[in-house]
Formats: sequence, C-alpha cells, structure tokens
Amino acid sequence: MVDGLMESKLLIAGPCGAESEAQVMETARAIANRFPGAWFRAGVWKPRTRPGAFEGAGEPALEWMQEVRHETGLKVVTEAATTHQLEACLKAGIDGVWIGARTTVNPFLVQDLADAMLGISIPVMVKNPLHPDVDLWRGAIERVGQSVKGEVIAIHRGFHSFETSEFRNHPRWQVAFELKSFFPGIRMVCDISHIAGRRPLLRGIAQEALDLGYDGWMIETHIDPDNALSDKMQQVTPDQLAELVHGLSPRISDIGNGTAATEIMNYRSEIDRLDEALLQLMQERMKLSARIGEVKKENDISIFQPDRWRHVLSTLRERGNEIGLSPGFIRNLLIQIHDESIRIQSEIVHRDELKNVGRD
Ligand code: PEP
Ligand code: MN
Repeated sequence: MVDGLMESKLLIAGPCGAESEAQVMETARAIANRFPGAWFRAGVWKPRTRPGAFEGAGEPALEWMQEVRHETGLKVVTEAATTHQLEACLKAGIDGVWIGARTTVNPFLVQDLADAMLGISIPVMVKNPLHPDVDLWRGAIERVGQSVKGEVIAIHRGFHSFETSEFRNHPRWQVAFELKSFFPGIRMVCDISHIAGRRPLLRGIAQEALDLGYDGWMIETHIDPDNALSDKMQQVTPDQLAELVHGLSPRISDIGNGTAATEIMNYRSEIDRLDEALLQLMQERMKLSARIGEVKKENDISIFQPDRWRHVLSTLRERGNEIGLSPGFIRNLLIQIHDESIRIQSEIVHRDELKNVGRD
C-alpha cells in the first residue's frame, strides 16, 4: 500500500457483534494501534435469523463504545434498527450509525428512523437492501438525506442470491454503480466481510473495491475470530486486518495520455466495433424469436420449451468453455437473451387479449 492512500479512504473495522467489554476493548486497542484514523464498528444489537442466537450485548455495550472512544480516540459506530435503539445511540453520543440490510428493505422502518434522525449531524450509513433493488437503496438514502444534517454514506454489502456462488452475498457491482449515478458525490464503502462470508475471499474483494474507486472498506475484525459469537468465518484478527489493508495496491484511475492510453484507445475502438456487431446479431436473433412466436401463436404451442432451453444452455456453456468463456458468464448472458425472447413471444401470443383489454 502506498503511503497516504489510507488518508483518503475510510476504514471501518471492528467485530460483528459487541460480546463483552474485554472483547470490545481489546479489539479496539489493537485496531487503534494499527489504524488510528479508523472508525470502530460493533453490532450492539444483532439481527439474527432465529431467536436464541447471540443478539449482541445490547444497551450495556453502548458504554463500552464510549470507553473505546475515550481511550483510543477512534470514532465509534453501530447499527440502529429501531427508533428506540437510535435514541439510545444518540443519548450515548455514538459517532455514527448504520441502517442494516434488513431495515433498508422496509420503507416504513426507514421513514421511522429518518424521522427520529431529524436534524442530527452525525454520519448515517445506509447499507444496500438484501436483494438487488437499487430503488429501495436509493429511497432509503433519500429518506435519511431529507432528515439529517450530517453526511449520508452508502455501504455496499452485497446481495442475497439463489444461485450458487462463492460469495455469501453476491457483489453485483453494477447495482452500486447505478446507485452512485443517482448520488454522484456520495461516499461508497464496501463491506467486504458480508460479501465474502469467508476469510480467503476478503483480499480479492477489497482490491476490487479499490480498483473500482470505492471510498473505503468495512471489515469485521475480532480479537479472537475463531471464538466469535457471530460471523466467525468472515472475521479477521487485527494483525490480519493490517496485512490485508497494507497488501492492497492502488491503481491509477486516469488512463493518462501516454503510450498506455494510445494502446487502450486502440483496443476500445475494436471493442466498439464488436459491440456494434453484437447489437446487430442480437437484433437478428430477436427477429427470429418473434417469427417463432407467430408460429407458436397460430398452433397454440406453449412459449416456454424447457427441453429446448436446457439444450441451448448446456451446449453453449460447454462450447463457451472450450473457447475460454466462463460457464457462469455464458449462463447469465443466455438467461438475459432467453428472458427477452420470452417477453417478445408473450407479447405476440397475447396480442389479441391485450387489444381486447384496450377496448374495454
Ligand atoms: C453487520 O454489519 O454486522 C450486519 C448485520 O450487516 P448487514 O445488515 O449488512 O447484514
Ligand atoms: Mn456480521
């Protein structure tokens, strides 16, 4: 890591949950020694899927957070999911709060919190909702933004996916870029821990976030991760945190105007040419789908043909693999193309019904 990089980035580190005074204090001291400018996170209240699991130490942990700030000088932040929790945080002088993924999905809860935040000037971080719905994320940021005087920060913690994936929560970087297009000035922090779910994946995600121009990282850090009461597979020790962060290599964001820029521009014009050809091919392909739609309509044949779809998917994934295209990529691409064909054919098959609806 190049000196000075961390000065422009936000590092939010600390345990998933506040478990005991000793666990909070020891973790915070070790983080402060390595990163005095970091923000210290700990879940005072933990949203757990089932009752009976460790739910954070609750209100007493707010005192430990105050102690952290007093002793180490780190700013302390936690999740507030109810107005009661938020008020307790404000009363305890917490330096910042975040709205968790399970809260962002519910505009009623977000509005309640936003109302209770009226006029506050501490930073409020808004995590993305559990599923990749950019409007929910955007709406939550707008609700909070209308109410608070302080900074609103977006936290990208990945999205639940039904597809098998190496990630606990798939990053779907595109959703974060889309959010950023609505709020160009917003700081975007990558919560690599909840995206990864497992320690070996953390470094790659952190580097990717840096390459993509993120403004910082949230990294769950625990003095003794193997004995953590929640999320133990994804937490790192303070030493591992330092190793991870110092191992990141910054990239130059501007392509400049030297020979590298010329080379890139040449490749880009080739790519533009191929993209145009892809569009033409796609248009031809959709025209053929529409013709098939007409035949299906005339002969009352169902639009979705599972055997044909399975065949296309497996042949092209195999063929793609042979020529070096990843099966996951081919699968996603074909799903998009197939969905569009089905949409076009549905419009054709239901044309008359749609007309009748119009007439009523
Ligand atoms: C957390 O940060 O510990 C947490 C519960 O996160 P999320 O809301 O992203 O699941
Ligand atoms: Mn966690």
